[in-house]
Amino acid sequence: VLSTMQDVPLLISRILTHGSTIHGTSQVTTWTGEAEPHRRSFAEIGARAAQLAHALREDLGVTDDDRVATLAWNNAEHVEAYFAIPSMGAILHTLNLRLPPEQLAWIVNHAADRVVIVNGSLLPLLAPLLPHLKPVEHVVVTGPGDRSLLAEAGPAVQVHEYEDLIAGKPTTYEWPELDERQAAAMCYTSGTTGDPKGVVYSHRSIYLHSMQVNMTESMGLTDEDTSLVVVPQFHVNAWGLPHATFMTGVNMLMPDRFLQPAPIAEMIESEKPTHAAAVPTIWQGLLAELTAKPRDVASLTQVTIGGSACPPSLMEAFDKLGMRVCHAWGMTETSPLGTVARPPAHAVGTDEEFAYRLTQGRFPAGVEARLTGPGGERLPWDGESAGELEVRGTWIAGAYYNGPDAEPLRPADKFSEDGWLKTGDVGTISPDGFLTLTDRAKDVIKSGGEWISSVELENALMSHPEVTEAAVVAVPDEKWGERPLATVVLREGAAADFESLRAFLAEEGKIAKWQLPERWTIIEAVPKTSVGKFDKKVLRRQYADGQLD
Ligand code: ADP
Repeated sequence: VLSTMQDVPLLISRILTHGSTIHGTSQVTTWTGEAEPHRRSFAEIGARAAQLAHALREDLGVTDDDRVATLAWNNAEHVEAYFAIPSMGAILHTLNLRLPPEQLAWIVNHAADRVVIVNGSLLPLLAPLLPHLKPVEHVVVTGPGDRSLLAEAGPAVQVHEYEDLIAGKPTTYEWPELDERQAAAMCYTSGTTGDPKGVVYSHRSIYLHSMQVNMTESMGLTDEDTSLVVVPQFHVNAWGLPHATFMTGVNMLMPDRFLQPAPIAEMIESEKPTHAAAVPTIWQGLLAELTAKPRDVASLTQVTIGGSACPPSLMEAFDKLGMRVCHAWGMTETSPLGTVARPPAHAVGTDEEFAYRLTQGRFPAGVEARLTGPGGERLPWDGESAGELEVRGTWIAGAYYNGPDAEPLRPADKFSEDGWLKTGDVGTISPDGFLTLTDRAKDVIKSGGEWISSVELENALMSHPEVTEAAVVAVPDEKWGERPLATVVLREGAAADFESLRAFLAEEGKIAKWQLPERWTIIEAVPKTSVGKFDKKVLRRQYADGQLD
């Protein structure tokens, strides 16, 4: 028997219409580096998104299924593109501006992007790439930047000014009633192994994911909040924040290209956000900045940290500053919200609370999880059995993009036969559903038939007062197969040496004796990936022969 309920497709245009009317006075504030940031209301964003959609359709001939890429920082125009492109039925493709140029070109060509909307400040990156971007017919430039760089673009590419293009266009658009399962946005994984893989989100998956982001057990923000969205809009849709905020009227504070610790601290002090989201490396930088130059950060009471494990020392330090950390786990393939570490009621206010907050978190109702052992066996949720995490749900990828007309890809190492996503993350799940990741499958150190968690060693090292960053990788070892190599970044003027660091790890049973690294090196900075995570591939390559230089 069918239900008697209305069947209204879950579309991004509905989120836009809701946000720009019901929450029309909420604001997107973009940092400009000048005395005054730039402010635009949700109502204005809605009007400009309609104008952009008209321009894309009528002037640039963008039709359904066309991919429109953005090469952009977090700012108001990027939010307009976020809503205009999927709402009109086309596909938003956010490009990761930190990828090596050849990878970026590969991705644009693979996705066959017809249009690129680019921030003027990023023209030095785009202009030399353009001759290699075969499918690109139009470049639309926003904000300040040297247009003359595009002089050589060639006859195959038309260059437009964003503001000229949208000027005078109608401020409303009759958004089409699309199929909610249709492609809305796409994002490529950064390709730690092999070619990058494209994940295509649907209107439905984004809509449902946004609702989850807004739940109290996730970020739980309201129109009284301002969220400092440091996580880039090209990193899994800024973790869903632009969509989620338009549902609830949460104001957004966008850092544009000002992502260094000093301007971030300044933004917090002057714009007083209540929430912020980014990967741990950003927060480590901010912490060092605030230690050197204290600021009033009292407004910021909730910080969502994910993308890699949150070091306990960071959580403690932030707690002391009144910036309560909420740890979360996810990936490009999971939209990204997979787990959120809100402690269960019985643990709140007890000694257990901190331990719960350090886990990767609990699965929300929309995400099912299971653990698979090395032989393919299902492992129990006993908090001890460690296996590969597999997930399934309405906002979890079931395949990768393989061109508009080709069958999607379902590689056997990424999807189980029954369709679950194999995350490549290894961990345990407690009986009450809290996930603790011990490592990425490819980062774990296999020493004499036992596993050593690189993350555990890193967290212990980073709790040393003189250590700012530490990354641990496996290096080949004749006797044990692999052993950990600790690469450590010390604070300026630090006196610690390897002996004392090793003794620190051994203290109070922090780390089992057999897991203590015997290879150490001090480095200036841990190399970072395009989304700001420790890039262990680079370190592994550098120390592949097990020799320290
Ligand atoms: P990339 O693979 O390029 O880093 P993603 O952003 O999709 O791209 O990364 C997803 C991966 O990041 C996860 O599979 C996991 O290994 C790691 N990760 C994300 N959040 C956490 C977290 N809170 N703790 C530990 N690892 C995390």
